[in-house]
This record gives sequence, structure tokens and C-alpha cells, in this order.
Amino acid sequence: MTVYDYKELIPEDMKKRIALIDVDGHNYPNLPLMKLAAWHKRRGDSVEWYDPLFHNSAYAPPFDIAYMSKVFTFTPDYQYPVNADKIIKGGTGYFYPDGGDPLPEEIEHIYPDYSIYGITDTAFGFLTRGCPRNCDFCIVSEKEGSKSYKVANLSEFWRGQKNIVLCDPNLIACPDWKDLIQQLIDSRARIDINQGIDMRLMTEEKAEMIKKNPRESRTFRLG
Ligand code: SF4
Repeated sequence: MTVYDYKELIPEDMKKRIALIDVDGHNYPNLPLMKLAAWHKRRGDSVEWYDPLFHNSAYAPPFDIAYMSKVFTFTPDYQYPVNADKIIKGGTGYFYPDGGDPLPEEIEHIYPDYSIYGITDTAFGFLTRGCPRNCDFCIVSEKEGSKSYKVANLSEFWRGQKNIVLCDPNLIACPDWKDLIQQLIDSRARIDINQGIDMRLMTEEKAEMIKKNPRESRTFRLG
């Protein structure tokens, strides 16, 4: 997302109407949009999905801000006009390969608003970013760096949900893997590491830790 001075754009005492557009569709929850929704709702703004049928009518007032997120380069761009005073775009689908400017820190680390996707029993997030593999078909190393590093504790995006979906590119390459896997074990949740586990970095110690996850969580994808 484009970085700008939130305090200047959104004075504390002015409530805003915010629109969200998940350009890729609603098949998979978009973390930046869930975080932006949480941040805006916390300050009292109204947040809703943009609906061209209603919001493009001649009588519809413009939104103060519309956020458009596009993750995939192959997704066609949004095909409708957007009725908003300010449009902010983000994601690798718009800004390849770095995704554009990062979210401000206080938004990046906020608990996501899963409700915008109707999600109640699953938490999504990243504990680490970066990957040392530099596979030539993948942008992670270029975008996030060629070292895996911790970016969050589990409590940042998990509050007791039964399922946790981790989107980490290479969790066990992170020097903090032990602490992070222990956090996953302690959650007793069903874990899906959806980018897989890098088997070239597997050790007996890591395998023993992963085995401590509840039985129903041992469905890791291998990479
Ligand atoms: S191991 Fe996975 S995340 Fe890392 S560079 Fe290769 S494809 Fe990307």
C-alpha cells in the first residue's frame, strides 16, 4: 500500500467512509485489507466492500478512501470506475515485485478483522518473512530478503481460533524457528503451513518439535 501520512490525511476527529476492493476476488482472505479494516474500524470509520452497482450510481456520495489490493499479476485489473476521493493501490499485482510501499507499522501489526470475509474459526498470518532459497520462479527472496526472519508472535493474529493458516515462505529457515514452533504447539490449533516445509532444512530436532503438534495438525505440506 502507498505510504502516506495517516495523521495528516485522517485527522483524529474526522470519521471516514472507507471502501475495500479485493481485486483478485474473494476466494482467499487478503491480509492487508483485513488489517486496514481493523485499523479504520478502531478509529470509528465505517468500512464496507465496494459495490459498483450501488456505489457508482449518480446519487452515491464518494467514499473518502478506497483501498484496492491485487496480489497476483495475472489477475485482470478492476473493471469498474471507483467513486472515491482517494484511491490507494497495493500488492504485487500492481507493484511487481516489491508490492509497493509497506503498510505503516501500526497497521501491519494490528489484529486482522477476519469478519470482513466472514471468517470465525481460522487465523491467517505470517510469523516470518524472507527465504534463503532464491528460486528463480519466485519473488519472495527479492521482495522480502534472502534471509528468513521473525516478524510477529502468534498472538498478533491468533486469538484462540481452532485453525491457523501460516503463509510463511520458509518457517524453519528462521533462526527463531524453535520459539515459533513452540508457540504453534502451545496453541493446540490445527496448523496449515500453506507454503510448505523446506525439507532440505529439516533436522531431527525440528521434526521432534513438529511431532509435538496435536495429531490432527500433522498435515504439513512439504517443499
Ligand atoms: S523455497 Fe519457496 S519461498 Fe523460498 S524462494 Fe523457493 S519457492 Fe520461494
